[in-house]
Amino acid sequence: MPSPSVKTIAHSDSQGLIGRAYSFAERAHAGQKRKTGEPYFNHPLAAAEILHSWQMDDATIAAALLHDTVEDTGVPLETIKKEFGADVAFLVDGVTKLGHIKYRGGSERDEETAVENKAENLRKMIIALSQDLRVVFIKLADRMHNMRTLAALPPAKQRRIALETDEIYASIAYRLGMHNVSGELQDLAFPYLHPREYEWLLNAAKEHYAARLRYLEKIKPQVRKLLESHAIIPIDIEIRAKRYSSLYKKLLKRDMDLGRVHDLVAMRVIVNTLPECYAALGVIHEAWPPLPRRIKDYIAMPKPNSYRSLHTTVIGPDAKQVEIQIRTKEMHDENEHGVAAHWLYKQKRSDEPTMSGKQLARDISWVQQLRHWQDRLAESTQNPEEFLQAMKVEFFTDRIFAVTPRGDVIDLPAGSTPIDFAYRVHSEIGNAATGAKVNGILMPLDTVLKSGDVVEIVTQKGKKPSEDWLRFAKTTIARDHIRLAFRKKNARSSLLAQPTRAEIRVTAEDRVGLIKDVSGTIAQSRVGILSFHGERAKGGTLHVNKIEVRSTDKKKIERIVEKLRAIAGVKEAGYRLL
Ligand code: MN
Repeated sequence: MPSPSVKTIAHSDSQGLIGRAYSFAERAHAGQKRKTGEPYFNHPLAAAEILHSWQMDDATIAAALLHDTVEDTGVPLETIKKEFGADVAFLVDGVTKLGHIKYRGGSERDEETAVENKAENLRKMIIALSQDLRVVFIKLADRMHNMRTLAALPPAKQRRIALETDEIYASIAYRLGMHNVSGELQDLAFPYLHPREYEWLLNAAKEHYAARLRYLEKIKPQVRKLLESHAIIPIDIEIRAKRYSSLYKKLLKRDMDLGRVHDLVAMRVIVNTLPECYAALGVIHEAWPPLPRRIKDYIAMPKPNSYRSLHTTVIGPDAKQVEIQIRTKEMHDENEHGVAAHWLYKQKRSDEPTMSGKQLARDISWVQQLRHWQDRLAESTQNPEEFLQAMKVEFFTDRIFAVTPRGDVIDLPAGSTPIDFAYRVHSEIGNAATGAKVNGILMPLDTVLKSGDVVEIVTQKGKKPSEDWLRFAKTTIARDHIRLAFRKKNARSSLLAQPTRAEIRVTAEDRVGLIKDVSGTIAQSRVGILSFHGERAKGGTLHVNKIEVRSTDKKKIERIVEKLRAIAGVKEAGYRLL
């Protein structure tokens, strides 16, 4: 997206919000130098440019320009508010507050889980303190620029900041689905955290990278031709090298053997529609055999951070393994930019079925919650203002953060009670609960909790849940467990024996566009395609396609089968429940 830089915008409209913030910050930081020796103002300007490239709104860019003025130049927040309004002042204040949080990781004696808990609590705290995701975005841009210029700092400081970046900020970006940002932060931190390994990798991987790149460039036109011969016109085929930091993590699991990493360079096929994703997968599998157990359907089952794509590893030309990732443009943009994609792409979504989120029966965690409104908001409106408003209301005022006596942060929907808290900690604690101490005082189990409450659950061995709890239990996880305790045994076992999926089989004469017609017909009826597998029938010209779907609705599936039989070239179609 070519657009003028923040600097150009500021100079061409000096009375606009960005223009005024630019000259105000430049004046406030006048005479200050960074450790690199350059004028200090370069830093807030660089952060603002990063946010501009993420297509953030003017208030966010202005706040980025001003983000260090309160802390480092002593400008009162009141002045920012008077000059730039409450919104910008709120963002600057948020970033200033986050600046006071420091993470040093665990001491070496700490157990790994304790370190992870500490990091996780800090991540949640940062999100909670921010109150508005734009504060987090500014902090990420601020950190990204600081990491790019980290070399100027003393080694001890470099390590602490790199560690914090890797374990806290890259992780937050990842949870928000901002893979590009997360990956870049990790890559920037890597040389400081593992200098020798970085050095080794740089030398050892160079050849492998080059060889893989050459190979993929060679087969790229073959993939395009193959897809086009089945009437699938890809929007783009990208070749993407794995980042050093993630390569290193993978190597640790592969005995540092570069020969065992097959996605060093991966191919990304970007197609137009969801049915085309599965159709493309089928076409590729027909041409090159897939490795068993390497097909991953993150469209039917998105990663917890809402990443969606199909992955497969096939034996390509010259018997070499290739990882191929297939997704739509929309999935691709969301995978790269995550929550921030809502500022980037404002057009109405296509009508492809969203299979994510809805199948989650369990209570949703903080990031799944984000994903949830992304879906809902996308259905109603793409107006970023409303999206932000909804974020503030739903995420930050509709969630509370209660604390265990050990200091673990438990996030819950507003209105939650100690019973919700208890089941969130552990189902056995919920089942055996008899009472709760809130901030040290014994309180009834239907007490509504507030953020910051320290909650201790009093339990009694052999105690059973009370049906009365359903009156005030707020979370799905608590309600499910309470109901489960009352459900009759036989009712439960018959539930378990029910089929959950169906497999549709289509045998057909091969022709151009066949797979596309088949997957299109199935996708239209919104049964949720889980996987698509095609192969040539033994000793003939017929092709057998097996499509697993989520629905078990016999009538619906029979209607699909009927439509499939009507497709040109189809000899046979049927299904079975799984
Ligand atoms: Mn800064």
